[in-house]
Amino acid sequence: MFSLCFKIGLCFSFLLLSGCALLDLNRSGATHFHTVVLDPGHGGYDSGARASSGLPEKMLTLDVAQRTKPLLEAKGYHVVMTRTQDIFIPLGTRTDIANKHLDAIFVSIHFNSSPSHAAHGIETYYYNSGSSRLAAKILHQLLPVYHARERGVKRAVYFVLHHNKRPATLLELGFVSNGNENAMIQKPATRQQLAAHIAQGIADCHE
Ligand SMILES: [Zn+2]
Repeated sequence: MFSLCFKIGLCFSFLLLSGCALLDLNRSGATHFHTVVLDPGHGGYDSGARASSGLPEKMLTLDVAQRTKPLLEAKGYHVVMTRTQDIFIPLGTRTDIANKHLDAIFVSIHFNSSPSHAAHGIETYYYNSGSSRLAAKILHQLLPVYHARERGVKRAVYFVLHHNKRPATLLELGFVSNGNENAMIQKPATRQQLAAHIAQGIADCHE
C-alpha cells in the first residue's frame, strides 16, 4: 500500500514538474531544457541532396549529429537521436520522438542544395515564435565556421517544425551544390567544427 501511494505520489509530482517544464519552454522560448533531440535529415532510400562530389546529404547529416551528441553530453544534456544508422525514418516518427520528451528541444540537421551553383551560406529555420531564439543562437554560433554567408533565420512550415510541440529548429549547414562550400563540408574537420558550434549555440540558449 505504501509502495502504491509512493508511486502515485511520484507520478503526480512528475506530472506537475512536467507541466512546469512545458510552460517554461513555451513561455521563455527554450531557455529551460535538459533533452536535445538531434535529427539527422534524410536516410535510407532518401539520400537528400546530392553533393557536387563526395558523401550525399544523408551521410553528412548523420556524421554531424554523431559528432554533436558527445559534445552535448559533455555539457550535461540528455541526447536522443532520431536515427543512428543509414535508414529512413518517417517525419511523423521524428516529431513523435520530440513530442514525448517534455523537457526537449529539437534540432534537425541538413545541408542545402540549389540549381544555382553560386548559392552558399548557412540559414536556420523555425516555425513557432518560441523557437526563433534557438534558431538565432545556433546561426550566430555557426557563422564563423567557414566564414559562411549569413542567409538568415527564416520561418517556414516544414513538417518537423510545424508538427513539433517542442522548441524546434532546422539547420541548413551550407550548400553541397556549391563547389567551394562542398569541398569544406566533405572534410571531417569541418564537420567537427560544425558540431562544436551547434553544441555551443544550444548551450547559449541557457544564458
Ligand atoms: Zn535536407
